[in-house]
Parts: sequence; C-alpha cells; structure tokens
Amino acid sequence: MDKPATPNSFRTGPDEQGMFGIFGGRFVAETLMPLILDLERNWNEVKNDPDFKAELTDLSTHYAGRPSKLYFAEGLTRHLREVSSAKGLGGGAKVYFKREDLNHTGSHKINNCLGQILLAKRMGKKRIIAETGAGQHGVASATVAARFGFPCVVYMGATDVARQSPNVFRMKLLGAEVRPVTAGHGTLKDAMNEALRDWVTNVEDTYYLIGTAAGPHPYPELVRDFQSVIGSEARAQILEQEGRLPDTIIACVGGGSNAIGMFHPFLDDKEVRIIGIEAGGRGLDGIEHCASMNAGRPGVLHGNRTYLLQNSDGQIMDGHSISAGLDYPGVGPEHSWLRDSGRVEYVPILDDEALEAFKLTTRVEGIIPALESAHAIAHAVKIVPAMDKDQIVIVNLSGRGDKDVHTVASMLGMEI
Ligand SMILES: *Cc1c(COP(=O)(O)O)cnc(C)c1O
Repeated sequence: MDKPATPNSFRTGPDEQGMFGIFGGRFVAETLMPLILDLERNWNEVKNDPDFKAELTDLSTHYAGRPSKLYFAEGLTRHLREVSSAKGLGGGAKVYFKREDLNHTGSHKINNCLGQILLAKRMGKKRIIAETGAGQHGVASATVAARFGFPCVVYMGATDVARQSPNVFRMKLLGAEVRPVTAGHGTLKDAMNEALRDWVTNVEDTYYLIGTAAGPHPYPELVRDFQSVIGSEARAQILEQEGRLPDTIIACVGGGSNAIGMFHPFLDDKEVRIIGIEAGGRGLDGIEHCASMNAGRPGVLHGNRTYLLQNSDGQIMDGHSISAGLDYPGVGPEHSWLRDSGRVEYVPILDDEALEAFKLTTRVEGIIPALESAHAIAHAVKIVPAMDKDQIVIVNLSGRGDKDVHTVASMLGMEI
C-alpha cells in the first residue's frame, strides 16, 4: 500500500485511468461506470486508513492464520542437490516455500476476500456476488459472507458445477446460493460475464467480490494490494532467516493474484529474478494450454486490456490446464505490463511436469501442494540444480492439494 515515488520504480502503477502502460483500464458499460467510480472512491479512502488496516490485520491474524510461515524445504533442497551432483554440477540452491497453503480455506484467496468484505461493509452494501471457476474463490467468498452475515450469490459455469461438486456443496453449507451459468462453455469466463451482468442490474445494494487481480480498475490494484501481504512477509522473513534477499522468486499465474502479491514488494529489488509460471497444459503448439502471455495477444476482456487467448477472429478461447485455478484465458493487466517491460519472466509448465512436482513434493516434504502451486515448484525443480549452493529460491505455495486428489488419482489411472 506504500509506494515509493521514484519514476524508475516498477511499483507506482496503475495511473489515474487504471492503466499499467497500455494494459488495464476500465472498459465497461456506461451503466457500470458510476459503480466503478464509487468503488474507486471508497478504495482510495480506506487504503491508507489505519482503522481499516487494523481491522484487516486482526482478522488476518486470528481468523486466517497470518503471517504464513516461510519454510526451508530441506527435503526438496536435498533431493535437488542429489540431482545436481548426479549431473556433475555440484550445486543446488536452497529452496524455501511461502506457506499460503496453511491459511484458512487452504489458499491465498482468503487474503483478498477478507479485504474486500471489509470494503463492502464500509460501503454499506447488503449483498455479495462472486464468480468462481473450480470453486476455490467461491468457497472463500461464501466463507467471509457467512462470517459477516451477508447473503451471497456465486456464479459458476454449469460445466464447472458438474465437475466440482464438493466445492458446490461447501458453498451451500456456508449459506451461499450457487447459480449455474449455461452460456458459452459454462466455465469461469462465462461466470464472470454473468456476475458483471448481475452487478449492473443491482446497482444499489450489491458488492462484486472479484477473485483475482483482473477486471476493471480499481480491482487489479486493490486485489494486488490485499495480496501483497504475501510478498511483504516473505521479504521480511527471508531477511530475518538468511540475512539477505532471495536470488529468485517463483509463483504460478492464473489470473495472477498470488503471483502479483508475491512479486510486488520485490519489483524494485533489481538483484531478485522474478518468474511467473503459466499453465502450459499439453503444450503450446495446440490449443490445450492456458499460457496467455506466451501464446496470446493483447485484447479486451472483463473490463481491461491484457494478454488473452484468442483465435484469429479475436474470439476468446477456452484454455486447458490440469489445474482448474490456472484455467483463465486472460491474466491480470499488471502482469502483461511486467512481461512487456521485461521485469518479470513468464514461463509455461506442462500438466505432466506439474504432476511430477506434485508427487515429488508430497514424498520428500510431506506437503501435498495444490496443482496450481505444483506448477511453480516444477519450475524450481528445473532451475535449482544448475544454481549454486549458496543461492536462495522462494516458491509461493499458493494452496494445499487436498482439493486435487481426485484429479491426480484419475491422471494416475487410480480410483479413490
Ligand atoms: C485460484 C488459485 C490460483 C490461481 O489464481 P491467481 O489469481 O493466479 O493466484 C493459484 N493457486 C491456488 C491454490 C488457487 O486456489
């Protein structure tokens, strides 16, 4: 929330119009504009309000379990040193995990939901709407709505409702109404369209709780700021534990909220290499991936300009990933800007590579990572053996993998 004013900083965006260079903005229907401006006004009020910060910090501590630990992954480090030796390299950096998997509801999503529900309360809203893909953000939204006594409607693609029934049931237990969306392919993109439609028609009383650092301005900024607790903690923790900054930090990118939260506090530390991992799915040659920044083109979706998966007619394409949380055809606009400016590298990891990293981490660390997070670990597995022993890598463990055991079982040809 505090940004240095130096013109060379990577941390000053967005500008007044919500732009990160040519990305971002607010491409919304005229009817939505007053709501967006009202949200922006309220956000500008609370973001430097000590009372708001104190309430959020208190909830983050006692309800969500922050600060999350920065854990030296000794088992994985030892394994990758053996790999390094076997290759005759004799290296292998120290690997740390930022443990967002230990948060209430099992991922980083609660950081954003707590911030936004407090904002909704401040604004005097009476009703919460949210979109969800796999259901993780839907569950986190339903959780904070239950905690604060708001009625909550979650839009979810009909296809996703069918394949994510445990999360649908969780949301219902928490008191939310799940509305299946049959438009399009019935996935996250369609759910987001429907949530935006609901918002326009219920202007007065409704707060739209967006699940990632995308959407029209000011959402990318406010979601980033709520998630930046990840990177701020990690930065202080590594200075405390190792006495210096890491050489490399890695996070997976779906819409980009855990990644931008991890990256933002490090953007002006030039010596820190920053890598975002996209879902490479079954490879970038075909269409079965979700690597919008490696294989997409800039366009407008959900109120902002950003890199998108689109066909030659500019139609948005449905992506594919083994992990439902990385299965979004766009990406938050700040990532598009960081990509083009060269500050952050974006690299695809395939389904199979993520699955291997999932199995490896489970065996050598006794931690079952979310398949999304396993993408980030998979990239560490690739680069760490060639690094020196005194180097440090931090991987953001965005969530836990309990939700993924059915997917993994079927990938392995097993039944639970
Ligand atoms: C939702 C989710 C993601 C992807 O969302 P981002 O906005 O890109 O962070 C990654 N990891 C986990 C565990 C998730 O639940």
